[in-house]
Amino acid sequence: MNAFSSKKKKLPSRKRALNVGGFLPFSMGDYPLHLSAVIFCQGCHWRCRYCHNPGLQPLSQPKKDANSEWAKVMAFLRTRQNLLEAVVFSGGEPLLQPSLISALRAVKKLGFKIGLHTNGTSPSHFEKVLRYLDWVGLDIKAPLEHYSKITGVPKSGDSVWHCLKLLLKAKIPYECRTTVHPQLHSPEDMRKIMEQLHQMGVHHYVIQQFRNEGCNDEKLIRKEPRLTIDSTLIGPLGNLFKTFSIRH
Ligand code: SF4
Repeated sequence: MNAFSSKKKKLPSRKRALNVGGFLPFSMGDYPLHLSAVIFCQGCHWRCRYCHNPGLQPLSQPKKDANSEWAKVMAFLRTRQNLLEAVVFSGGEPLLQPSLISALRAVKKLGFKIGLHTNGTSPSHFEKVLRYLDWVGLDIKAPLEHYSKITGVPKSGDSVWHCLKLLLKAKIPYECRTTVHPQLHSPEDMRKIMEQLHQMGVHHYVIQQFRNEGCNDEKLIRKEPRLTIDSTLIGPLGNLFKTFSIRH
């Protein structure tokens, strides 16, 4: 057998790990009533003007090696077993990560509950990961028909509504939440969002105040960042939900 006839041995491909864009070792506010660590996944296809983490939008960070970053996160989590209760996958957008399921499995094996923050961008991936999740925070950015005004992506609301249906069907604890900026959301928008969610069967809804921190759209930075919500509008609409709150 000469060198040309011998079969080349295939090298095993090195599976790319979850692309970690940031890590918060301790949080009391990212998974309700649980102490958690938060993994921020790198990459988001949408371009919300109010995004407070625009550094996570590019799909990769050239200087970071995904495998070693993920290994560091896992090593840290092993030291926090029985100390933290949950690990939250946030973003960027976790559903864009091809290796999300294997990351969820690895973290679940350590005994943590799993939370997911998602913008609802990929229903097919969401359906596959649902079985690993203990809690979901789903962003609702606008009324269905006005979604692209916030995300910059046509028809982006369709995938979110699809994810919402899957989430409600799965009966996993969740919250739907809307980050509100007075320049981007009118009282009429808020009325529509809340009515549409109610019609879908949503019971848990939170309005989040826009935060200046991290936002790189100067036109949206507010000197007085306090949210002005029309209480005569929001009050009665809040009653549409079993739990409703305004998060400052
Ligand atoms: S979906 Fe989230 S991460 Fe993506 S651009 Fe909008 S706010 Fe930023």
